[in-house]
Amino acid sequence: MVNKVKELITGWLQMKKYNFLNLAILISYMSLSSCEDMNQAQFQHAYTDVANESSPDARQAMDELTRGGRTLPSGRELTEAVSNPGNCDSCNALRNPVVATSNQPNYYPTSLKNYPIPSAGCIPVSSVSEAEASALIRSQGLTTQNATSSERRTLGATIKRVQELNGGPLRMGMGPGGNYAFNFKNSNGSWQGGDAIHIGRGSHDHGNSVAQHAHEWAHLIGNQGGYAMFKRYMGGSGGYSRSDHCLVSGYADNVTSSGRIEGEQFAEVFAAFVTQPSLLLNNTQTPGNCRKVYNFFKDHFFARGSRVRSCQ
Ligand SMILES: [Zn+2]
Repeated sequence: MVNKVKELITGWLQMKKYNFLNLAILISYMSLSSCEDMNQAQFQHAYTDVANESSPDARQAMDELTRGGRTLPSGRELTEAVSNPGNCDSCNALRNPVVATSNQPNYYPTSLKNYPIPSAGCIPVSSVSEAEASALIRSQGLTTQNATSSERRTLGATIKRVQELNGGPLRMGMGPGGNYAFNFKNSNGSWQGGDAIHIGRGSHDHGNSVAQHAHEWAHLIGNQGGYAMFKRYMGGSGGYSRSDHCLVSGYADNVTSSGRIEGEQFAEVFAAFVTQPSLLLNNTQTPGNCRKVYNFFKDHFFARGSRVRSCQ
């Protein structure tokens, strides 16, 4: 038995390599109190061995969890320890089960915010509490004005998914000036301005659409470095043009009021990657460009972009 526990803890200690199955087994193992049979000397031996083989970060995390190797963490403690957006790959898979893609649309006639799958996003809004949403919004230097509780949680779920993909707060998505708000209103029309991001609820309840928030936030991200990075990658040495566009939606080919050809494109494909990445993988309008966009966000833009696979 001690070898089994040792094997499981070793797997967990390889912070970037541990797999979900080992973690699940370890949690259920301890939840069932199966470890009561293992005596302290056996555990100390196993702990010392695996700790010596691990990185300083993993060793420190394990020390905190086991109080210097004296006790095994409870299942709950272990779950909490690996639930930080910046430190957890396998728990994302647990929370965001992979969904079938075969029946999902691969193109939308108008903007993503008008359709149920991208509006729901990858993380259930119902799983984000008001307190968690507040912490997430704050972590990006943002505030809200006139938002309902569910609108704040929807924005929280949007930020949470982006931070999962990035391994923490997104620098380009920080609100400028220290008091930059998502401002909710009942009229039609949404835009990102110098003063705030304005979200028009309109008649389609866009205040509760993850895709809506991802799209408008993407304009801020674009203006703070994202557009330039995107154009460099997509355009290559030949420069960026509309022939590089990925048409996830009819709106993805629009030009912004300021004349940017990459503006609505970036906002729509960013929203696709964050809320319904299969749109990029299964696209039939411009499949090569959409695959390139997918790789941009997965390998280049987000520090932990490969986590996109937890929502396909
Ligand atoms: Zn836009």
